Amino acid sequence: MRICPKCKSTDVEADLSAQSYGKGSFFNQYKCNNCGYTGIFFPEIKKKKD
Ligand SMILES: [Zn+2]
Repeated sequence: MRICPKCKSTDVEADLSAQSYGKGSFFNQYKCNNCGYTGIFFPEIKKKKD
């Protein structure tokens, strides 16, 4: 899973909007649903086992 580098929220999803495709990036872009931050540098963390 990935976390937002800005607010550390785990409420992050891949941003597959037309806007991200319009930038011509080959990288997946992610979006934070908590603070609205978007970017490709979302660090991936290991999910803690309950
Ligand atoms: Zn965030």
